[in-house]
Amino acid sequence: MIRNILKYLILLLLILLFNNCKKNLPDDDNQNIIILYTNDEHGWIENSEYTDGAARMMGLWREYEGYDGDNRYLILSGGDNWTGPAISTWFEGESTVDVMNAMEYDASAIGNHEFDFKVDGLYERIEQADFPYLSANIREKASGEIPDFATPYIIKDIDDVMVGIIGLTTITTPYSTFPDHVVDYDFIDYATALEYIVPQAKEDGAELLIVAGHICYPEMVALVPTLHTLGISVVGGGHCHNDLVGEIVNGVAVIKTTAFMQSYAKVEITYNKVEKEVVNMEPSVHLNENGNPDQTVSDVVAYWRTQTDVELSEVIGYTDSEIIRESSTMHNMIVDSWLHQYPNADIAMTNAGGIRQSIPAGDITKEVIIGVLPFQNFIIELQLTGAEVINCTGYADMIFGGMTTIGGYFLLDGTEIDNNTTYSVLTTDYLYAQNDYRFLFSQYDPNPYYTSMNYHQPTIDWITSLNTSAGNALDNYLDDTARR
Ligand SMILES: [Zn+2]
Repeated sequence: MIRNILKYLILLLLILLFNNCKKNLPDDDNQNIIILYTNDEHGWIENSEYTDGAARMMGLWREYEGYDGDNRYLILSGGDNWTGPAISTWFEGESTVDVMNAMEYDASAIGNHEFDFKVDGLYERIEQADFPYLSANIREKASGEIPDFATPYIIKDIDDVMVGIIGLTTITTPYSTFPDHVVDYDFIDYATALEYIVPQAKEDGAELLIVAGHICYPEMVALVPTLHTLGISVVGGGHCHNDLVGEIVNGVAVIKTTAFMQSYAKVEITYNKVEKEVVNMEPSVHLNENGNPDQTVSDVVAYWRTQTDVELSEVIGYTDSEIIRESSTMHNMIVDSWLHQYPNADIAMTNAGGIRQSIPAGDITKEVIIGVLPFQNFIIELQLTGAEVINCTGYADMIFGGMTTIGGYFLLDGTEIDNNTTYSVLTTDYLYAQNDYRFLFSQYDPNPYYTSMNYHQPTIDWITSLNTSAGNALDNYLDDTARR
């Protein structure tokens, strides 16, 4: 009898204790989810003067953010993973995806640069990646369907919270990558795409909704009312490199980093599983600084460094002084090398924006030049009248070989450019495809000559041909005269 009473009392005590514990843990129904976010990595995986790179970023995530591989962490990218320094561009993004696999990314948006090596190139990276490439706003022109390479959304089960992650791709893609590469696709507006896909994601069970978008900050803010209405809690951005953002706008967490793995954004979400609602969100931004390199990621980067060195370490010249990215010296050298390659042309013109880095003093390798001119841009030759040439010079970013706009419009031999004379003009297929500037190459000459030569190749060839060295530096061959 006493034993039975004792048993009963112990049981009662246990029940009381258990209930008390439950009461003392009011967060029991709350799930903590942490988003770590980057965008526009552009292949800057190495530690360099421009960025601390991927291994140190991962080091910060492990040490500072407590990332331990637990699935309550979501590692996301806003796209434009590749096209940048030679370690990335030379391998068409393969090195970057290897690194992102090692960093355990959960998903990336499809950025415009994901098409730089054509849709086939994107398919190769999708095959290689341990994570999906997301976009809900690409449509095949022929069928109106979302193409196979674009996964509109995924749903991840994070300790019984179904998290839907939806991708968006910049609607500028038809002219911010090679138009030929995406000629079969439409990039529809973000709100329409989300209004179409979010009900599907919800039907599939998504409770907490996140957008990883390759879209700029003003577009993100403009989209907030739609996101709010659709019940999307977080939007990550990309494409523009100038805003580092972590804020709440109208109840939506808005996050975006600059680029090149120089920073990351984070959102700590508290989600109530019973009420099925976000209890709290804390967005923040962090510089990729002072991290201790993660060994696994370091090893992957080191492998690709070795591969790059093998391919690109060949020294092709020597310069005594740094050639600054924005200088007349740099501009002239590049367009002049095109005219050296195509001596029958009168003029070369391209956008200064296609030049991405300075050339450091000392030995010049192939890799340095490919880093300066990293894009898959190819040179084309146009026939333009003098009036058309002069019209093109109104575009402020344009740089010229073979001509100047100082004191009028002259060829470099001093002849005035004549409105009605036809000139042979070199430019890139990239600029040719731009129809949103004040010059209209494709209307001026609908039948250009495609050289199929990458825009960096003449510069590599010209520097190589000079056989420069410490005693006979490239500086002796450069022209620093301003031409506009
Ligand atoms: Zn972009």
